Amino acid sequence: MASILVVDDEKIIRDGCERILLKEGWQVKTASSGAEGLEHLKASPFDLLLLDLKMPGLSGMEMLQQVKELYPEVIVIVITGYATVESAVAAMKAGAYDFISKPFLPDQLRIVVRRALEKKALEWEAELLRREREKGLRKIAEEKSKIKTIIQSMADGVLVIDHEGHIVLYNPAFLRLLKIPAFPFDQTIDDLIAQEEWRELGRHIKQVQEGTPVSLEMARGGLTLMAHITPVRSEEGEFLGTVAVLRDISMLKAIDQMKSDFVAMVAHELRSPLASIEQQLAVILAGILGEINQKQQEMLGRAKERTHALLNLISDLLDLSKIEAGFVVQHKEPICIEEILTKVVEILRPQAEAKNIALELTLPPSLPQLLGDRRNIEEVFLNLVSNGIKYTAEGGRVWLSGGIQGSYLLVEVGDNGMGIPAEDLPHIFDKFYRVKNVQTRRITGTGLGLPIAKRIVEAHLGTIEVQSQVGVGSIFRVYLPLNLSA
Ligand code: ADP
Repeated sequence: MASILVVDDEKIIRDGCERILLKEGWQVKTASSGAEGLEHLKASPFDLLLLDLKMPGLSGMEMLQQVKELYPEVIVIVITGYATVESAVAAMKAGAYDFISKPFLPDQLRIVVRRALEKKALEWEAELLRREREKGLRKIAEEKSKIKTIIQSMADGVLVIDHEGHIVLYNPAFLRLLKIPAFPFDQTIDDLIAQEEWRELGRHIKQVQEGTPVSLEMARGGLTLMAHITPVRSEEGEFLGTVAVLRDISMLKAIDQMKSDFVAMVAHELRSPLASIEQQLAVILAGILGEINQKQQEMLGRAKERTHALLNLISDLLDLSKIEAGFVVQHKEPICIEEILTKVVEILRPQAEAKNIALELTLPPSLPQLLGDRRNIEEVFLNLVSNGIKYTAEGGRVWLSGGIQGSYLLVEVGDNGMGIPAEDLPHIFDKFYRVKNVQTRRITGTGLGLPIAKRIVEAHLGTIEVQSQVGVGSIFRVYLPLNLSA
């Protein structure tokens, strides 16, 4: 219920106002002088003050000034006498909300007071809304600074680029891992690619813009870094930008190396005895040591087959460790990529035909020769194309295409097969990693094809990457540097 204070030295006015206002259900207090009015205001809060401007002692104007200073929330209506429009204007200028001239009718008083109280209620509502908004904004600002602190203190490097290619955020770990100095935020990814230390990452970021995620390993100043580059989309699917996360995997690499050394050692130790078992089985199967019956022939035949498969695995493992030890590009020679890819397609055509898969090779004419290890480069594409065939359903399509891209020769091996789930993508170049799901269950493999391909490409100072979408297909891209051209 609104509370009103009436200050007037004329009793008849005071009483009249009190009667009219009480009837409206408002609380009313009266005072016969400014000083007494101020006492009331001091004692309890009021919503509205009806103030006579012309009083002995403390004048209405003086009281108005004090009220505005001490109780700015109280809304003031001044009561003026005849022909005192100037004083009413002066009072309004000093902060009064409205005025009413004596003599007035009860209805006039009611209307003026009601209008003022309504205004006050509206102001209060607006104030509440403002406070709510302020609270909301404060909360958003707090959340923002929390997220910023988290990103700033992360051990992984983070870089965020908006949809126009402008850098909008990066953290100290990002600079530390890439060993680059801080740079201004308004730079675009194109500005940064112009700098040597950015080229590799920048090229990949540009490629991911609006595309599918890419993961790659990079060597930088003695560290091995894993970069995951992902496009960011709104709930409605609108492209918002790209996020790159860098992780130092040097430690994991070192452990990996120890494991490889161990595997190589074991494989090496197993090869001779296994080869000897295979030979002895061959001798028995050939009947050199005497005749063997049908049943024995079958069992020994299976044993020989299994031994042979084991020897193949061992040979793969030894290949891998040789590659990892850096013995890949020992026999560098000028190689013609068209010749190699044509041979790969010929070797694998029967496999493709068995599954009714179209195998296509399209290359622009006269691609430059490269310097490399022919057998190893052939192995890269044998692995990629045979995977394409293995992981594509009957009647599908596997294609190879190539071209020059900047200072690289790019070969793409694509298929419209089952694709690779996003959560497996970062791991498929890991040794022994195989995607495990209903579709891949019946497909055999060692999980060594891609790691071998990757090591060979890297040993030729190139890169290999994959783009894949489940149910759509996969594209493996191999970049081989042209400065190795013959
Ligand atoms: P594997 O001997 O299992 O084929 P790889 O190292 O060649 O080993 O490949 C690792 C895994 O990556 C595979 O097990 C498969 O799940 C997945 N993969 C590789 N190439 C493709 C492809 N073209 N389409 C779908 N999945 C693929």
